[in-house]
Amino acid sequence: MAELPAGVVQAFFARTCCNYWNVLRSGRSSYGNLVSVRRVALKSQEEMQLNYFTGEQETEQMKKTGFIYDDTYLQHNTGDWHPESSERLRVIVNGLKESGLLEKLVRIEAEPANQRWVEAVHHVNYIMRFNDACAMGLPDFDHQENSICRESFKAALLAAGGVIKAIDSIMVGDVETAFCAVRPPGHHAEVDKAMGFCYFNNVAIGARYAQRQWGMKRVGIIDFDVHHGNGTQHIFETDPTVFYYSIHEHPSFAYPGTGRDFECGVAAGEGTTKNSVILPGRGDHDYRRKLTEDLIPAFKKFQPDMILVSAGFDAHAADMMSGVNLSTDGYDFVSELIMNLANALTDGKVVSILEGGYNLELLPLLVENHIKHLAGLRGV
Ligand SMILES: [Zn+2]
Repeated sequence: MAELPAGVVQAFFARTCCNYWNVLRSGRSSYGNLVSVRRVALKSQEEMQLNYFTGEQETEQMKKTGFIYDDTYLQHNTGDWHPESSERLRVIVNGLKESGLLEKLVRIEAEPANQRWVEAVHHVNYIMRFNDACAMGLPDFDHQENSICRESFKAALLAAGGVIKAIDSIMVGDVETAFCAVRPPGHHAEVDKAMGFCYFNNVAIGARYAQRQWGMKRVGIIDFDVHHGNGTQHIFETDPTVFYYSIHEHPSFAYPGTGRDFECGVAAGEGTTKNSVILPGRGDHDYRRKLTEDLIPAFKKFQPDMILVSAGFDAHAADMMSGVNLSTDGYDFVSELIMNLANALTDGKVVSILEGGYNLELLPLLVENHIKHLAGLRGV
């Protein structure tokens, strides 16, 4: 932390670094969670034994799961000091290679989003401002936390385009689920403002695309990044056709300070926004309770045609970006619950999109576990 330039990311860290140091001081190593018991999707003890020892059995049980990644995402250079670094994607891809999971996934080539789809969410003037800022080589955009380089616009278009390709792949039946290992992330991006390392709101663009290109009437968004997706909520808060559910650290303690539990939508959109807030220091028990009591009945009532996930891994106890203490097993529960909901409501159609997650030691395992749930290799 001492190496960070003064005044740049401290605002983002300020409310959470005490917790981070407390975690370190208490001697709680991330490895304690790394060795947590791994569960595999199994129906019997015999199957479990087979699955632990043979990859073939796993593959046969797998849902066809798409994986979106492109080296261009690494070109969005935020600087050596920035937590939202290209290293995040490098460790994710390396982890998936080492575990052998990557070769079982269906690689999907991303294409830059047609600007028409970006304009379905963002003002055209904002898109032009972002393009100009990158072309001019400015160091940041709208706020100094939002580092950019000349390639950032290209990477952001490809991130949104990756989500679009994932939706296409599900709709034409190439895959059943998909994970988008994209950056820059998106859920803080407002209609006309970059925030929290986010420029184009990938999940929102995906929701609009699913509706307008594929005729999806109702899209459900589940955001489990530890920070409230202010951009996504504001984009859809008057829209009854997109349900935005977010579970995040209480806004009094965490960036961006929005997402109170009484915010439930505006005008025609009243009832299709839901925020579950988690107090600092709380973890698995509260996640279980809130997801079970808040998310499940809301989505059962809403009946989405497709579920999009803003997948943030910064709620983990060992992630310095939050004061929330979700464990590795707790993340498993979150992923399992989402897949159970999707299997019940959307015929399993889920596109999950990377948002935050900054512990480079843990991120590969958390993403691997999450993708295993998407693939039906974990959970029941
Ligand atoms: Zn976050």
